[in-house]
Amino acid sequence: MNIEQTVSAAVAGLQLGNTFTLDDLRHTVQDRRHRRLRIVELADLDTHDGLCALWFVADAEDIVIHARSDSALHRQQFVLHELAHMILGHCDGDDCTVGEALLPNIPPYTRGRLLSRQDLDSETEIAAESLADRLAAGIRGAMFAESAYSEVFG
Ligand SMILES: [Zn+2]
Repeated sequence: MNIEQTVSAAVAGLQLGNTFTLDDLRHTVQDRRHRRLRIVELADLDTHDGLCALWFVADAEDIVIHARSDSALHRQQFVLHELAHMILGHCDGDDCTVGEALLPNIPPYTRGRLLSRQDLDSETEIAAESLADRLAAGIRGAMFAESAYSEVFG
């Protein structure tokens, strides 16, 4: 399977339909992994190296730690990217902690450099980022659907 197929299969496997909220997604991931999933914003996460998110696999729970960002969309993307790793099973088996230099809206070649500096497997990263984009589209869809609803019926 290529990345596109892997990502599409992952989206279908979630059975969330075309639109959903971030909270729906969090619950689905939680249920599938049979573990609590906590999302924590850490205002003083050291972002010097462009680090903006961490997925920490603890004994009984998954913890996604993300940097503060004034942009709600960036924040969401940090979280979705980590959820994408979980959904794609990138850290299954061994305990592992993934630190991310995830910078949306920067050119891919720059991103590639940042990622390789952190010795991250680039194919894994591309898949996670691409799934995160698909998830973001689903969440955006839910927001549009809601606002359309309140426009018509509100
Ligand atoms: Zn990643």
